[in-house]
Amino acid sequence: MKGIQMVDLKGQYIKIKSEIDAAIQNVIQNTAFINGPEVKSFKSDLERYLDGSHVIPCANGTDALQIAMMALQLKPGDEVITADFTYVATAEVIGLLGLKPVLVDVKPDTFTIDPELVAKAITSKTRAIVPVHLFGQCADMETLNTIADLHNLYIIEDNAQALGATYTYNNGPIKKAGTMGNIGCTSFFPSKNLGCYGDGGALYTQDADLARVIQMIAHHGQRVQYVHDMLGVNSRLDTLQAAILQIKLKHLNAYNHARQAVAAYYDQAFSGISGIEIPKRNPQSTHVFHQYTLTVPALKRDAIRADLSECGIPSMIYYPIPLHQQKAYLQADVNDEQFPVTVNLCKSVLALPIHTEMTTEMLDYISSNFIKSIKKHI
Ligand SMILES: *Cc1c(COP(=O)(O)O)cnc(C)c1O
Repeated sequence: MKGIQMVDLKGQYIKIKSEIDAAIQNVIQNTAFINGPEVKSFKSDLERYLDGSHVIPCANGTDALQIAMMALQLKPGDEVITADFTYVATAEVIGLLGLKPVLVDVKPDTFTIDPELVAKAITSKTRAIVPVHLFGQCADMETLNTIADLHNLYIIEDNAQALGATYTYNNGPIKKAGTMGNIGCTSFFPSKNLGCYGDGGALYTQDADLARVIQMIAHHGQRVQYVHDMLGVNSRLDTLQAAILQIKLKHLNAYNHARQAVAAYYDQAFSGISGIEIPKRNPQSTHVFHQYTLTVPALKRDAIRADLSECGIPSMIYYPIPLHQQKAYLQADVNDEQFPVTVNLCKSVLALPIHTEMTTEMLDYISSNFIKSIKKHI
């Protein structure tokens, strides 16, 4: 079968082409390329989607994380706890601001940060925790909120992969991913669940004062034009991207449901197949499946990927190297023994194609060939 992709942005575009093309044309006609009306209207739409959070659009998800840490006035030397098993951006901005990234291991079932290890990693210098809602489901926010409250720490949610997921607290409230900490950060990188046609990102918070600070920092620390009260950055969402996102946001729930249907198909196809572990769900969170990541025997992973590739089925490894092993993040007092889960996951995870345009034929083809390969090697 030809044309199977990890993500099918073209197929997704074709279905909304007329609307998208008109919106892009409209921006070009109006020439308000920076901070045009679409930026404001997308911001309001996302605020509504996030149950009334204050939203500040910015240039990308990495900037969102950096601006969040600046807005919370974290200072050089402050410690920020995050997961060893994540995309590099999470730890990168911690380092860039002169803060100390304190990496902890993740849980073997859901691959999200282990709250017990977070509690153990807290010192007098700890200021914030950055849980990553990895692959599309929420970290253990209830426990993390409790820990943060107890130690007076901020929570910045890295919600680049889980926009639209919800989390249910034991005492009832249901919250959207990214709205449970002090600040939530999102990326609109094209392949994310809500992706634009270039770079984009946003921060959100429930705190109106904090929202004002974030807004200023993202715009050169500017209070009113040419008056700069604090050090900021230049991080804007393009009007063109906002126009595209405004249209795609209307489809986000449907897109997430399409991903969930793919995951359900894979789950069923792979149930009872020995040697692999299908993705475990956090019972308090929905899963919007930014990735469908399962684990296979480490020593067979390359051979399985080669089999798939021969059938025209792409696969990916998110992530092949633990952060603590990356040259840029080496720390003298840190070694593999502190991260047994991440070390193992980096050797055994495998992500299969999952996107909004998959057909039953494709799913059938991918899962039958995957199972064939697994049976051959195990
Ligand atoms: C994509 C991603 C980011 C960064 O987003 P960009 O828009 O590419 O800067 C940060 N964290 C995680 C977990 C991501 O997946």
